[in-house]
This record gives sequence, structure tokens and C-alpha cells, in this order.
Amino acid sequence: MSGSGMSKHRSGGVADAGPGSAAAASAAASAAESKLRQRTVADSRDQTCSQLHNGAVVSEDQSSSGQCSLDLWSKKALLKRNDLPRHLQFNPYIETGYRPLLDAWGCFMSLFYFHNETINIITHGVPMLYILLWWQTLLPWGEISVPVLPWIHLVATVSPWVGSTIYHLFMNHSAGEACYKSLLHLDMFGIWITQSFVGLVWFFFKASHARNPWERRFCFTLPFLMRAASATLRGSAWGGGNPGAFKHIILQDLLAVLGGFVGALRVPEKWVPGRLDLLANSHHIMHVVVVYAVYHLHQGAVLDLVWLSGNTTCLGTSPPPPPHVL
Ligand SMILES: [Zn+2]
Repeated sequence: MSGSGMSKHRSGGVADAGPGSAAAASAAASAAESKLRQRTVADSRDQTCSQLHNGAVVSEDQSSSGQCSLDLWSKKALLKRNDLPRHLQFNPYIETGYRPLLDAWGCFMSLFYFHNETINIITHGVPMLYILLWWQTLLPWGEISVPVLPWIHLVATVSPWVGSTIYHLFMNHSAGEACYKSLLHLDMFGIWITQSFVGLVWFFFKASHARNPWERRFCFTLPFLMRAASATLRGSAWGGGNPGAFKHIILQDLLAVLGGFVGALRVPEKWVPGRLDLLANSHHIMHVVVVYAVYHLHQGAVLDLVWLSGNTTCLGTSPPPPPHVL
């Protein structure tokens, strides 16, 4: 608001009071001062708001209406997709509810109002906190004889939620596209740890108890192949594991693939663009589905970890490996 606007407010307030008694004049002056104070606060909020939106083009609606406000609790501060830098316009079917570019504190404070990343943050932030706070209750520690394995499992199960929560919370950081890409890499790294460590847990044990050089080398193929091979080998003489874990392994991968497909297809928001910006779009569905996938991963891993503790060789009935297998 301009300075002339403020002076108009001040003179208007005094004129309304009129030349009556001293008490009336005092009350009028007080009221005018109060109005002036409110106006000044509003002006300073508008000024800060323009700084807040630095780096993001404010929508025409907001800039022309003059209602740009720091009131992040309302929808006024949220932007449309076309108002964002190009690197944040990755889903053409999510049209509204975007946060402006913010500094780190502003991104963090966006936890406390609703926008189109809120569900993404909650769906992976809650599992992250759950694992970090109740990790002691998640595994039968007393039944697992190899101490490092449950820790690897815990890191594997919490990593995707840590990476994803940080990515979604800070993706609109004002540092721009380079910062966004770093956060995206962090998100991918968390997923990679989960996908790899599950195989590594299994083949760490297999490698430690290999019966011949080929088996030992087979334990160090690519993580993706390890996961596929470990599931395939479970039913053979080369494999092992708790039979009850197999269904969890299959479900974990089926759900992960399903979630990946839903996210890539951008269904259902592509059928109703702009209608699912805040709730129930494909990324929200994918987040929930992959949480369920990792739940099955956890269930299967716990069964296998306990099974491994009762089998100090690859197969309980197998003869011990010959010496000098390498
Ligand atoms: Zn996500």
C-alpha cells in the first residue's frame, strides 16, 4: 500500500471525530492511530510477500488483486502451475496448490498449512518417524544372532522415507533447479538403498557361507539381479530362507511395480485435470502403495533374519564348505 493511502486513512480518522469534547477527540485520535498501525502492518506484510515470491512469477490474479499476503495459512499464498519455475511444472495435471519458492525455513514451515505436497510429506514422513521412534520394537532382536543384519535392515526400511520426505518438503527451495535436482537424487538414493540392501542382507550371508568360488562371485552381481535371483533361488537347493517370507517378497515387488506404474501413468488426475491437486492423485496413491510394499519387505525380512540365525550354513543339512574355496 502506498504512502498516500496511509495519509488518507489518517486524515479521514480525525475528520470523522469532529471538533467536539476533548474525550471524543482523544478517542478519535486513538482510533485513527489504531487504523494506521493496522495499515502499516499490512503494508509490511505485502513488502515481505514480494520478497517471498522472489524467483517465482506471481500469478496475474494475485499481482493484480493486490491481495498478495504472507498469510500462508490461506490459499492466497499458493500458486498455479504456470506461476512456477519450469523445473517444478513436472505434472501437467496438477494445476493449483503449489507453494512459492521459499528459503529452508519457509519450506519447513509449510508443514503447518495445506498445499499440494502435504499428502506426499505426510505419507512418507509418518513412516519415517514411526521407524525412528519405535525401531526397538520392530525386530525380534534377541532371536537374530548376526548383529549387523537387523541394522542394515532398519537403514534399508527408513531410507526411502527420509529421502522422500526431505525431497517433497524442500523441493520448492529458492536455490532453484540445482537444489531441486540434488533433492531428487537424495530421494532416488533412499529408494536405491532399500532395493539394494534387501539383496545385500541376503547375499551378505550367502557370501559368508559360500561353498565354492562361483557361488561366492554370484553373491556380488548387480543389486537388481541379486533381488530377482534371491527370490528365484529360494525354492532351489542353492537357496533357503523362511518359506513364509516368499509371499511377502512377491507382494513387495508387485506393489512396488504397481505404485511405479500408477505414478508414471499419472492416473487418475489425467482424467480430471485440476480436480485432484490436493488429494488422491497418482503420486499420493503411489506413496501409500510403496509404504505397503515396504511393510511386506519388513515382514519377509524379519522371518528371514530369524531363519538365518538358526542356519549357520546355507542349508542346514549341507556338508560344510571345503577349505580354500577361492
Ligand atoms: Zn514422492
